[in-house]
Amino acid sequence: MSTSGLPIETDPGRSSELHQRLLDWYRHNRRDLPWRRTRDPYQVLVSEIMLQQTQVDRVIPKYHAFLEQFPTIQALAEAPASEVIRAWAGLGYNRRAVNLQRTAQAVVERYDGVMPSDPELLRGLPGIGDYTAGAVACFAYEQPVGFADANIRRVLQRLFFGPELPERKASDSTIRRLAQVLVPERDAYAWNQALIEFGALQCTSRKPACLICPLQSDCAAFPEIQTVLGQGRARTTPAETPFTGSTRFYRGRLIAALRELPAGASSPLIDLGPKIRDDFSPNYTGWLLDLAKGLERDGLLCFETGALQDDGNQRIAEEQAKYDAKAGDRATVAGLRVRLP
Ligand code: SF4
Repeated sequence: MSTSGLPIETDPGRSSELHQRLLDWYRHNRRDLPWRRTRDPYQVLVSEIMLQQTQVDRVIPKYHAFLEQFPTIQALAEAPASEVIRAWAGLGYNRRAVNLQRTAQAVVERYDGVMPSDPELLRGLPGIGDYTAGAVACFAYEQPVGFADANIRRVLQRLFFGPELPERKASDSTIRRLAQVLVPERDAYAWNQALIEFGALQCTSRKPACLICPLQSDCAAFPEIQTVLGQGRARTTPAETPFTGSTRFYRGRLIAALRELPAGASSPLIDLGPKIRDDFSPNYTGWLLDLAKGLERDGLLCFETGALQDDGNQRIAEEQAKYDAKAGDRATVAGLRVRLP
């Protein structure tokens, strides 16, 4: 890969010095995390998807439980989607559960259940972006691939370009190129894990431990970063968007209500309204329908037309409801039943 325009172009010795210091830091500070004890591509994939938007402490027990329930990629591919969504409880961003299962199904169909090691092929799987493709290629197959999650982006930005506030000085594509150029041919696994760990423990978003940082003398952000972050905190803290009351919050509550139903059971959509918001009233009927439609689009919810009588046996009609009524059509919404897929 060309190093044109990257800061290490003018200082080829810098990367080897950086490798040495960061790998040394990693040897002394790394956490013993379960996904660092395996090279199984499926287990690596599960951990990477879980870690995308959830803290390590919350992921660890869910990671073990998920792998116990779905021990192989085939088991995950063949499971009912509702079981996978139930198993995701507590992790948030439920769409990841659906995407993870779609990935597993694609691997079983296209590659006979064996995850590819080529990042290009990995990127072709549903729900797999640049980061996850690189992480699986490196952490499962030890390929010398560079990639950038939020931690790596922040560390490289600070080290090579300076503080990320008031605005970032390097684009995402520059950081991705830099990440690739910096990957050593040998030790790529340890290098990428070290960058992630360094961003999580040392060069953190809000309180980087600059005074005891082994990379301090070579960091473009030091010492300015401390002042800049202090000013940034003062400006941004009061304006942070509350999670409670957001669409994501209510989507999570609707999925949580569906998880409480017995396996395979459905519920009238309208009955779930009061479980989702304390101030639910008929005025929110259209809002509730829109919320459910959004979850259906993401593969997290199914509509049913209701229970039918068939030769004395109860059976659930699973035809897709023709809910073409305008949002707010209470008569139509009253007839809709919903369940996990
Ligand atoms: S000196 Fe501070 S900002 Fe620079 S790499 Fe170390 S912890 Fe991060």
